[in-house]
Amino acid sequence: MLDSGVKVFLQRLSRVITRRLFLGSGVAATFALPAYAVPSVRPNLPLVMLDPGHGGKDPGAIGISGTYEKHIALAAAQELQRQLNAGGKMRVELTRTRDVFIPLETRVAIAQRKGAALFVSMHADALLDRSVRGASVYTLGEHATDTQAAQLAKHENASDRFGGHMPHATSPEVSRILASLVREETRAGSVRMAQEVVGALREDTRLLPNPQRQAAFKVLKAADIPSVLVEMGFMSNREDEASLRQPAHRAKVAAAMKRAIEGYFTAMPNA
Ligand SMILES: [Zn+2]
Repeated sequence: MLDSGVKVFLQRLSRVITRRLFLGSGVAATFALPAYAVPSVRPNLPLVMLDPGHGGKDPGAIGISGTYEKHIALAAAQELQRQLNAGGKMRVELTRTRDVFIPLETRVAIAQRKGAALFVSMHADALLDRSVRGASVYTLGEHATDTQAAQLAKHENASDRFGGHMPHATSPEVSRILASLVREETRAGSVRMAQEVVGALREDTRLLPNPQRQAAFKVLKAADIPSVLVEMGFMSNREDEASLRQPAHRAKVAAAMKRAIEGYFTAMPNA
């Protein structure tokens, strides 16, 4: 008896294989699989899972003037959800809609259980160097591209110190084997999404140098869902903190992220 996590995983795997064998080759019309073989995890529109960082007993970074990252992250995610819903091209859910603590692994599990096609974690962390400001976008990488990315991942992953150990619901061996089959496709989707976000933010938002980076963020470790983490700015920088406190600035960042998400699904229509 497979548990629900494995079932969803198998359905997603089947979808990826179907896409590769048939849809990607342009012969879908003649080689379409029988209806019962094509998984229907999601109704028509793709589901985007937005993940406001931190929450509850985990405040995230605390700004120079006392702003909590957890509040900025939630406000920005809700604004992005509002804008995406207005666009009507996808379904949007949040891993949290209020000030509550959710372990990192649970955030990933929520996205997997709901069959999300894309996972976007939203943050505004702190760096030791308070002069550093600007937005940046992260994908999963075991080796951090730079010391700032490594520092951020270390802080983010430490969020789990607020929660107890969460046993994984899926057999590790089954997960490992299946994940290896879809991991490369997921990685490519994550990188593509990161490129879209950087490209969209660049139009009217200040960015870090080399804004597309990698680090070993736990919350990006879904093997089957393209995932990015967006640092909208840094609470450790006075100007970034002041900007992120402004609804108008958050709306501008959200508008860029909306363009990026819509661009992603246009570029990868079968995602
Ligand atoms: Zn954070």
